Amino acid sequence: MAKTPQEVLQMIKDNGIKMIDLKFIDLPGTWQHCTFYYDQIDETAFTDGVPFDGSSIRGWKAINDSDMAMVPDPNTAWIDPFYKEPTLSMICRIKEPRTGEWYSRDPRSIAYKALDYLASTGLGDTAYFGPEAEFFLFDDVRFDQTENKGYYYVDSVEGRWNSGREEEGGNLGYKPGYKQGYFPVAPTDTMQDIRTEMLLTMADCGVPIEKHHHEVATGGQNELGFKFGTLVEAADHLMTYKYVIKNVAKKYGKSATFMPKPLFNDNGSGMHTHQSIWNEGKPLFAGDQYAGLSEMALYYIGGILKHAPALLAFTNPTTNSYKRLVPGFEAPVNLAYSQGNRSASVRIPLSGDNPKAKRLEFRCPDATSNPYLAFAAMLCAGIDGIKNKIHPGEPLDVDIYDLSPEELSKIPSTPASLEGALEALEKDHAFLIDSGVFTMEFIENWIEYKLDNEVNPLRLRPHPYEFALYYDV
Ligand code: GLN
Ligand code: MG
Ligand code: MG
Ligand code: MG
Repeated sequence: MAKTPQEVLQMIKDNGIKMIDLKFIDLPGTWQHCTFYYDQIDETAFTDGVPFDGSSIRGWKAINDSDMAMVPDPNTAWIDPFYKEPTLSMICRIKEPRTGEWYSRDPRSIAYKALDYLASTGLGDTAYFGPEAEFFLFDDVRFDQTENKGYYYVDSVEGRWNSGREEEGGNLGYKPGYKQGYFPVAPTDTMQDIRTEMLLTMADCGVPIEKHHHEVATGGQNELGFKFGTLVEAADHLMTYKYVIKNVAKKYGKSATFMPKPLFNDNGSGMHTHQSIWNEGKPLFAGDQYAGLSEMALYYIGGILKHAPALLAFTNPTTNSYKRLVPGFEAPVNLAYSQGNRSASVRIPLSGDNPKAKRLEFRCPDATSNPYLAFAAMLCAGIDGIKNKIHPGEPLDVDIYDLSPEELSKIPSTPASLEGALEALEKDHAFLIDSGVFTMEFIENWIEYKLDNEVNPLRLRPHPYEFALYYDV
């Protein structure tokens, strides 16, 4: 429900709030925060913002030009359940105090620009997004964070016999078998209570909750579900979703990871993203074409599939993302679309006769993406498809994993690495820039940031598996 600044200030009084926690999204997509005594936030904070030093935030400003302001969004106010003292939380946008403009590298402001762009095209007034982020809960995670040691292992109650380590005793009865996690009842499912607590806690934080369940992988893989929302709303809810999951996990002595492929040879974690465009309360993706879609929806799919290699630089933006996008683990590899077929990267879920439920599901994304950037980029690709009438071709209504090598070679596939996606983005970014949503400076900075901080440091490190392969050669 929309709140005014006055309503938030009243909420602070009514609830005896002592502290105000302002959260904002950095470039890679994690929350940063700074906490203020309640009397520091007045009505002007909602327009001019609260000053802070932006120089040490990943991917942002240089030290000589670091004055920035956080502007809280009153619609995102909730009482943070993880603090001892009554604390109100709000999500912010970032302003340049000198010019009064929204900061060009602030992901949440970029997401707002994507909405302005949609409105300017006259195609529709609302873009809905529904992300399904999967994650693992582990009991025992160790890795050496100091430079260059390359040592790690993860282990979980359910996944222990799958982790490649010697089993350390204990009762193995009821443990889910390999890829059998979806979805037997307790006692095989040991994570019911923790998921329920996560789901109810996120409802207290304003997330419109729906359900939860165990996922396919043996090692404590889970998924919680919340209702779709408008682009910025859905991204805000996803940030809250991850925050609550990690903090409830910590309370139970576990840790949660959204890393796409934490366990070799088991299912990875995706963030399938459902999307549709509406105008004046009417769904525009329902029609009389394939799978009950409209022509507009088909063109949107055409745009997503055409730009997918570049798009993945935002929707699958980590080196680990590409360890998930391999055949055999329900993750999409081929750039094709189909109704009901989960081996295609775009799926049209069966929605009965209800035009309001007509949508597409892009199955490539994972939750290491910054949702504001990923949703904005997908919307730009879809709109590009609509504007240029990019038809997605014939649907693939077969199990793509069963096709012969000849048949398969005709279907374009996802990039094999983050480097490949960044190279695709370097060649194909007009659809992001011509819309005015992204700037060239932003794209260049993104590519450079990813190469310097992720691709190259990984490439230069000896990998633990290289020791197994080569140590004794
Ligand atoms: N974990 C699978 C993926 O990586 C999806 C499994 C599912 O939700 N059906 O996309
Ligand atoms: Mg799901
Ligand atoms: Mg799932
Ligand atoms: Mg799904």
